[in-house]
Amino acid sequence: MPPGATQTAARPAITPSASPRLIVVSPHLDDAVLSCGSLLARCAGSVVCTVFAGKPVEPLRTDWDTASGFGDAHEAMDARWQEDERALALCGAAPLWLDFLDSQYGVPPGVAEVADALEAQFRRFDSCLPVCPLGLWHSDHELVGAACRRLVSSRRLAGCIAYEDAIYRAMPGVLKAGLTRLRDDGLRACFVHPRAFGAAARSNAAAIKRRAIEAYESQARAFDSFPPDVKRRERFWRIESVGRALNGPNGAGAGRR
Ligand SMILES: [Zn+2]
Repeated sequence: MPPGATQTAARPAITPSASPRLIVVSPHLDDAVLSCGSLLARCAGSVVCTVFAGKPVEPLRTDWDTASGFGDAHEAMDARWQEDERALALCGAAPLWLDFLDSQYGVPPGVAEVADALEAQFRRFDSCLPVCPLGLWHSDHELVGAACRRLVSSRRLAGCIAYEDAIYRAMPGVLKAGLTRLRDDGLRACFVHPRAFGAAARSNAAAIKRRAIEAYESQARAFDSFPPDVKRRERFWRIESVGRALNGPNGAGAGRR
């Protein structure tokens, strides 16, 4: 656990500056852009922290990597890191890769381990607004979502913005189940428009996102082109522990669903 881990890890997410820099947590190398690429394009200088960005020691061969066009995991990760760099550069963001292994490569880490690692990064980038996945579906996403909920519910993180995981949010009942998990963990979620947390308008943000998505060409190959949900409007929730005041100086613009 990092020094001082019992203290709140980041400044309150509910009072961002007018032009926030973000630290966006991404389960895999593509999720942040698929789910909030337009927001990233509006918040220049942000960081995308991808949790499952590690390369396994052995050059495993998995069905997903084969479908992506790779011979083995080493080739896959080398190419996917390059794709991530290209995509994030288009959005004006920088990559930060944690070395946890994607579930296709081995036994997943525990929630506590991922929470500790994310807390360290939130501290390192403590001037950035934390943006986390709801963790709606897929074991890796659910694990990251649980780690983020743990940080907020334990007050190690004062709050965060959560994004709806693109592709998975389109599955029937999945979003509702994700919001129920938040409530069960003692958290409150309020639907929020990006403008309400300070993201500047940028007319070409959607076009930048489309180009950034195209940079993940191996993943598009595995999906046989990305599902149409990646083109739907990005949606965000303000997450806080029950009992915290929701309306800080810039919080009044947060709408309710
Ligand atoms: Zn993913």
